[in-house]
Amino acid sequence: MFGTASWKMIRIRGIDLKIHISLLILLAYTTFIAILQLPLAAQSAGVDPYALTLGRLSWGILFSLAILISVALHEFGHALTAQSLGIEVKGITLMMLGGISEMNSIPENRYSEFKLAIIGPVVSLGIAALMYLLNRSAESPDLILFGHWLGYTNLALAIFNLLPAFPLDGGRALRSVLAARVGTLRATRTAVNISRIFAWVLGLFGAFTFNFLLILIAFFIYSAAQAELSMLISRGLLGNIRVGDLGVRLTPVHESQSIEEAASEMMRVKSPVLPVSTSNGSPALIFLDSIKMIPKDSRDRTYIRDVRITASRSVEITELLKDVIPDLATAPLGVLPMMEGSRLIGLLRSSDLAQFIQLKSLEATDSGKRAA
Ligand SMILES: [Zn+2]
Repeated sequence: MFGTASWKMIRIRGIDLKIHISLLILLAYTTFIAILQLPLAAQSAGVDPYALTLGRLSWGILFSLAILISVALHEFGHALTAQSLGIEVKGITLMMLGGISEMNSIPENRYSEFKLAIIGPVVSLGIAALMYLLNRSAESPDLILFGHWLGYTNLALAIFNLLPAFPLDGGRALRSVLAARVGTLRATRTAVNISRIFAWVLGLFGAFTFNFLLILIAFFIYSAAQAELSMLISRGLLGNIRVGDLGVRLTPVHESQSIEEAASEMMRVKSPVLPVSTSNGSPALIFLDSIKMIPKDSRDRTYIRDVRITASRSVEITELLKDVIPDLATAPLGVLPMMEGSRLIGLLRSSDLAQFIQLKSLEATDSGKRAA
């Protein structure tokens, strides 16, 4: 939803930890709230606010960092469990609602999916328990407050993530339990419907109480639930179809050719985008819109290399279509260069994919009717 607005922080056991812009917004918010609510939190922890060593601002920053680390541990719980189940994890993006682990596949085994979902809240509960012990055993008012505050926050994090709504852990756990009875697709539909109801309730509550953060979370849950369903349906429909079966084969233009030549090639093959081969070997693309920006009378003196766009990723014709959907969805203008080995041979376009999925779903409903 927010594209790729995230920054890489560290790498642990081959897993990149990235921070998403939405989390930075949340951290700024929690720092602010922590500063405001410090006396209240101290009071509820049974600590005299004037006995604290750290000042308000330090508490705000410390508390926000502690939340960041808590969320990271929660996410690493998911990622390391996934690794132990034999699922490759490329990275973790910490977001407002916990995180998103980039995994190459979803566990097929229902018990595995349940385990994978539930481990996050278990980690958060574990931190809450540790903080409870700290709170009970510490002498210093600062440590007592820290244990109390972070303990309750992790408890809240665990409970929130256990809500049965996508993309929260509770939603995934619910899906895996339902899937054991009615199959993955029906289970996902049900779980998504429950998520939508949750999103509406949360959003309306947020609107009535003027809680901007709740409205944002509701919106996030709603769209993530929708995306989960479309992704699953698409994956199911695409089966074992490969990139080469849907990609269009187009002879690439070279970046040293003129814009004029690119324009006439576009006309010839009737495609508003062309694959571009470059001198350094990395595949690129040229779009009709970039050509339009060059005045007509200078198109023979301007070169493709001046306006081409380097592709973030290319697809290989042997790759499974369902595995490249996320990359295709986030690619500039929904197009990726298609390779055969090291040779650039064409394009994979999201518009073709969308059309193809619609045709496949038509086929699926037809055969469903016949079977009924
Ligand atoms: Zn989680």
